Amino acid sequence: MWRTLSILACAGALAFSGPAWPGEADRAAPGTVAAWPGGVFRWWYNPDLHPAWLSADQAAAMVRDAATKWEACGVRMEYQGVTALRPGIMDGENVVGWTTDLPGGTRGLTQGRARGRRLVERDVAFASSRLEFRRFPRLLEKVLVHEFGHAIGMTHSPACNDVMTLAADCPRAPAASLPVVPTDNDLARCRAGYANELR
Ligand SMILES: [Zn+2]
Repeated sequence: MWRTLSILACAGALAFSGPAWPGEADRAAPGTVAAWPGGVFRWWYNPDLHPAWLSADQAAAMVRDAATKWEACGVRMEYQGVTALRPGIMDGENVVGWTTDLPGGTRGLTQGRARGRRLVERDVAFASSRLEFRRFPRLLEKVLVHEFGHAIGMTHSPACNDVMTLAADCPRAPAASLPVVPTDNDLARCRAGYANELR
């Protein structure tokens, strides 16, 4: 099979949880399910439907800021600009944006395609109308960084303090203690997954 479609939903009542995408969780060892060729992720931003409690500029800044946090891995997160393309449609462009219609409890959704170990497309949609994000902006920050991790192919981490943790398996953490940058373990897993792309 040369093409796979993956859907990564991060949902639930816990501090950060989500049903694992089985094909990905099962292959979590190197930290990524696949990698961007050359270690470069080129993404567009669609500002539509951003959270009402943030200005358009604030929302855009939060999203762009979250993307850059993975550059510590060695991956280049190349922002391409604003687009009207919608996230979640496999159109050949990597689109990051907001949505109001994720299934109940879902905070963010990353969808994509890969050919073998190489990523072809990844779109990310964040839930814009969740009251918990307004109450705990740090939770939104973590969700943004977490989904960008999926966008570069990262799988869930078994370590509960990681940005890439699958919190369904972890005790609920207070919002103030949530990581908003990849931990050393996140970065080690990322570098392992990109070892063939970043030399
Ligand atoms: Zn996730």
